[in-house]
Amino acid sequence: MDFNRILILDGYTDEPAGLGVPPYIDVYPRYIAGAVWTVKPDAMVKYITVDQARMMGSEFFRLAESMDMVIVIAGMAVPGKYLGGTPIRLSELDEWFRLISKPLKILTGPAARFGIGIEGGRVAELPEKVATNFDVIVKGDPEVVIYDILRERSIERIDPYKLRNSYSEIEEFIIRGTRIVLQHPNYGKNLIVEIETFRGCPRVITGGCSFCIEPLYGIPKFRDQKSIVKEIEHLYRLGVKHFRLGRQPDIFAYKSIGVGEFEFPKPNPEEIRKLFYGIRCVAPNLKTLHIDNVNPGTVYHHPDESKKVAKIIIEYHTPGDVAAYGIESVDPKVIKLNNLKVMPDEAMEAIKILNEVGAKRGWNGLPELLPGINFVFGLIGETKETYHLAYEFLKEVYNRGYMVRRINIRQVLVFPHTRMWHVGTKYIEKHRGIFKVFKEKIRREIDVPMLRRVIPKGTILRNVFTELHENNHTYARQVGSYPILVDIPMKLPLHKFMDFVIVDHGPRSVTGIPYPLDINNAPLRILKLVPGLDSNTLMRIIKCRPIRDLNELVSIVGKDKAKYFTLKPQSR
Ligand code: SF4
Repeated sequence: MDFNRILILDGYTDEPAGLGVPPYIDVYPRYIAGAVWTVKPDAMVKYITVDQARMMGSEFFRLAESMDMVIVIAGMAVPGKYLGGTPIRLSELDEWFRLISKPLKILTGPAARFGIGIEGGRVAELPEKVATNFDVIVKGDPEVVIYDILRERSIERIDPYKLRNSYSEIEEFIIRGTRIVLQHPNYGKNLIVEIETFRGCPRVITGGCSFCIEPLYGIPKFRDQKSIVKEIEHLYRLGVKHFRLGRQPDIFAYKSIGVGEFEFPKPNPEEIRKLFYGIRCVAPNLKTLHIDNVNPGTVYHHPDESKKVAKIIIEYHTPGDVAAYGIESVDPKVIKLNNLKVMPDEAMEAIKILNEVGAKRGWNGLPELLPGINFVFGLIGETKETYHLAYEFLKEVYNRGYMVRRINIRQVLVFPHTRMWHVGTKYIEKHRGIFKVFKEKIRREIDVPMLRRVIPKGTILRNVFTELHENNHTYARQVGSYPILVDIPMKLPLHKFMDFVIVDHGPRSVTGIPYPLDINNAPLRILKLVPGLDSNTLMRIIKCRPIRDLNELVSIVGKDKAKYFTLKPQSR
């Protein structure tokens, strides 16, 4: 078998450590393309997303049939709702790949490795009828398995379970694969590249959390700064401006001291400085540099080092950054039975520490670095009281005046080889109703006031990318970790970076209007939303339009409100 024409179909992935739904591109397509180009530098590698395939219709099948190999990347969870795209469905994996016959068909990604998330929270093996559509189901690391297939020119002699042993093994793949980003539909717009710094969890020495698969990778293996910086340098030269160091369970634990000895090794600020400094040296004009997961236990057990790390990150990153704390539960019984990271008072302390360092507002309108909170329900020992305690905890966070950037509430997905596997979905089923009521209560009673605190009315959000039109509204987001959705009640040009002033709040979104607003052309219903404009001023604006100069503008709206307006039609 010879493979010169290869198609990578990105069906998107969303894992606790790693996001691959547009505008994100995860490591999978990059490492896979790099493996191909390492064996066959002249191979034609075509990358498309599942949304592009859908739009292509029958053309997609013609394209696939013209290839020697089709590699599909598929996530495992029941596809959720995303603004940036719709993950590949099980029915598409079935119907599409039954029809494609000529190329070698390879399934990779979490769906291949772990199975598909099904209703009720359990991960199940891929259905037989889907699995038989593929020649290889990659259970190990896709880049090393595909590398072997290309070298051996055979699928008989390879091990689909093969995992990489070290980062040095795939160093060349990582660099060679960077240029696949040129084919991403969000390239040149709001593309953000997920960067890996390590995998494995230090808490493996205690067995790790009952539901988590990260301990299956063993003690963390860190990627060296030189390698990470080199990858970012290549991406930056290709035109990538947005990066997230999101592919690891705890960025504060990067090259930490005492890994393998301690459950919460001591953060190593100088190693983290080297990493961030190195990135800024090779990508001085990057637009986004964010992080993702942080273990609240690391922050609680090492407050001084953690503060230093947070300050270093703030020195080099871009504002609006989120340290997603996997608190999971604040019920002491559940925490013990599932070997979770922190007790409630410890979690509260970790939230406090990050607020002390990161709450200051940055140039793009958002606080520099805030904690996010992840809660998981359906764990061993859960009772009704677990939900009550979670509500009380979040209320306390709010009452203490802390800011939390997002509260993620989900039910556990039960994986084979974890302790939860033997328990299954017992608690999920028992508390299905309570979970729904709890989630709605938090959205209503905590999220809205919290959002008002984090992004108060009148905040000017900078560099927000307009992504979508719906019912005469435009939806826009900044690029980064957990960006807030801005709902603009008017149609604006798409795929532009614009600034907005925030005028209202929903549970998970804010309402914004363009900043500055074109005073001579803005419709009355939008003018009405400008913070602090009374009806008399509104009438005067309407009567006096077109307003010709700054003096006239100030005389009509007042000096303090004039900042919200421009006399020129907006064009950027
Ligand atoms: S601390 Fe728990 S949830 Fe986090 S990576 Fe380790 S085992 Fe997984």
